[in-house]
Amino acid sequence: MNGPRFVISASEASSMAQQSNLSPLQLLPTLVPSAKDLARVPISNFPVGAVGLASDGRIFLGVNLEFTGVPLHHSVHAEQFLLTNLAVHGAPRLLALAVSAAPCGHCRQFFQELRNAADLQIFITSDQDQGKDDKPINYKPLISFLPNPFGPFDLLNEQTPLLLEPHNNGLQLQIQTLPSSKNPIMCNGYSKSREKGETLEIAALEAANESHAPYSGCPSGVALMDCEGEIYKGFYIESAAYNPSLGPVQAALVAYMAAGGGGFERIVAGVLVEREGAAVRQEDAARLFFKLISPKCEVRVLHCVLGSNGVYKA
Ligand SMILES: [Zn+2]
Repeated sequence: MNGPRFVISASEASSMAQQSNLSPLQLLPTLVPSAKDLARVPISNFPVGAVGLASDGRIFLGVNLEFTGVPLHHSVHAEQFLLTNLAVHGAPRLLALAVSAAPCGHCRQFFQELRNAADLQIFITSDQDQGKDDKPINYKPLISFLPNPFGPFDLLNEQTPLLLEPHNNGLQLQIQTLPSSKNPIMCNGYSKSREKGETLEIAALEAANESHAPYSGCPSGVALMDCEGEIYKGFYIESAAYNPSLGPVQAALVAYMAAGGGGFERIVAGVLVEREGAAVRQEDAARLFFKLISPKCEVRVLHCVLGSNGVYKA
């Protein structure tokens, strides 16, 4: 699919900076207006664009998303989109971002899930005069926007993986082989003969295993399929302050948009993987959300239960 681009490779980012005679940090604000144009804001009509530089040299875009008919707390802020975009693309670290409006309190909090949160450099392009003509572009660290933060280590020990660090939540799918068939059959009835369905389930499982849910211990992941059979996956991301947490469907929508996905009505199937009986369950919210953004989407939920070997299996 050839839609708008939300990820710029390191080599392209480097040549863009060279051609404009800018440093990477000077380049970021120049990309904010085009990021802003990609926002989907039917309620506020207030687009926000965020452009971030990762430690591997890639540049990532983020925009705000609002959903008609859905309560506002399901919205995705541009900075959340940006961080999720890094997370679903395996970026190791976010160094700096330029954003079109001052980050709200919710986003300042969401950034606390990064190990380098205090040092994250932020430039607000609407702070006029900065960056114009010869005025310097002054990035400021997140700690200056949110002094005395409440963060992960108020609740966790320092060894716990944070956002953008490798996670493996240890969920598994059980594969059964019927005596009459050489084809393995998933416990939920999906078989090799329904290859796309199986792939979608495996993608959702992979996403759930990367989920950042250290506060509840209830990871989850979602895989989407569009009408062309392309698959996109995203995972639940918790915040130490709970409310800024981002649901797995929203994260999968970030992956969908980042890959150039068009209208949400093009999403025809969705699979959610989560733990059975978890204290934090996504199923009901996810079903409702899918129904509102893509009414014809077929939604399946796989619940993983704790197996005899102590591993959660669906
Ligand atoms: Zn925000």
